[in-house]
Amino acid sequence: MPQVRKNRFIAAIYSIIVWGLGEVYAGVTNLKIGLGIVFMILWFIYLVSCLILNLNIFLAIVIYSIVAGLLAFDSFRDARTFNMMVSLEEARRRAPDRCPNCGSKVSKDFRFCPNCGYKLVT
Ligand SMILES: [Zn+2]
Repeated sequence: MPQVRKNRFIAAIYSIIVWGLGEVYAGVTNLKIGLGIVFMILWFIYLVSCLILNLNIFLAIVIYSIVAGLLAFDSFRDARTFNMMVSLEEARRRAPDRCPNCGSKVSKDFRFCPNCGYKLVT
């Protein structure tokens, strides 16, 4: 399970430098990592075709910025989601393995003690 938190700003900057790199860095789900890789390939194809087709530099920058901006925003959110997942995992680890009320053994996933009904998760 995830341990180290991801920097949201680094994720955003990555996707500005290379489309989708921020999504790969944030790595929330395999689907988002896959999507990030697809955008990285598109980024490469786009840069090569801009050179080959000799696209208007202003237009090329505008298109680049729109895609980069959307992906930066998306990877920023992805990194935040990833960090929330880390926090949840940490909270789960901290959860007691014994009921503080009656002392009976409880699973970390339990929200209430099955023996006395004591609320285990705050
Ligand atoms: Zn109990």
